[in-house]
Amino acid sequence: MKTHPTRSPLALSFVLAFATPLFSAAAQEWAPALTEKWEPVPEVVTPGEGMVPPSDAIVLFDGTNLSQWERVAGGDAAWQVRDGVMTVAGGSGDIRTRRQFGDVQLHVEWRTPAEVVGEGQGRGNSGVYLQDRYEVQILDSYENVTYSNGQAGSVYKQHIPLVNASRPPGEWQAYDIVFTAPVFSADGDVVRKAAVTVFHNGVLIQNHVELDGPTEYIGLPEYTPHGAGSILLQDHGNPTSFRNIWVREL
Ligand code: MG
Repeated sequence: MKTHPTRSPLALSFVLAFATPLFSAAAQEWAPALTEKWEPVPEVVTPGEGMVPPSDAIVLFDGTNLSQWERVAGGDAAWQVRDGVMTVAGGSGDIRTRRQFGDVQLHVEWRTPAEVVGEGQGRGNSGVYLQDRYEVQILDSYENVTYSNGQAGSVYKQHIPLVNASRPPGEWQAYDIVFTAPVFSADGDVVRKAAVTVFHNGVLIQNHVELDGPTEYIGLPEYTPHGAGSILLQDHGNPTSFRNIWVREL
């Protein structure tokens, strides 16, 4: 035997009086077109392929010369360039881009020496610094024990990489880095800390980690206000090589 739904007369009158108009109004309010945004139209960028950077990238090293770089201590960068590769000339000093940057996407390919010399921090040590002062460590961390917050892909002495995605010594490796610059108030307070995301050989190893200040070898980091800065490559005395370096300003 069929029965009517159990619903009180009061509830039924509510439904008839209010609910139906409300639902139809909601449906009208959320028509698909109302959540479509047609402006702005993203700029067209031709993606890179192989060694070719995306069309809007600033090429920092294409294998031919160091014109984009200078020696931090002054003068021209004196690292060796041969066969499309630049290699740290130990003792010639850190080099940095002549151009300065804020928020960036950075692609760097690097290779530690095939012949393993040294151990720990002494194996293929270099580093890529954002804004002159925040180091993502470069090191031969393939079966090479050192402190975890100093191995390849660490934000040196601040963040241990999520995993060790290192390739063997002598093989090319890549960092794809997204860097968000710190923001300071007029009084010099930190409004927003610097943050970095790193893919090592395509593997996520730093997921938007915040920095507590510039990289320090000894002691704790502490921010001092600064503006845009260079991308810097470290001379740590080991003949680590680089190729195909490009950056996109964000
Ligand atoms: Mg280093």
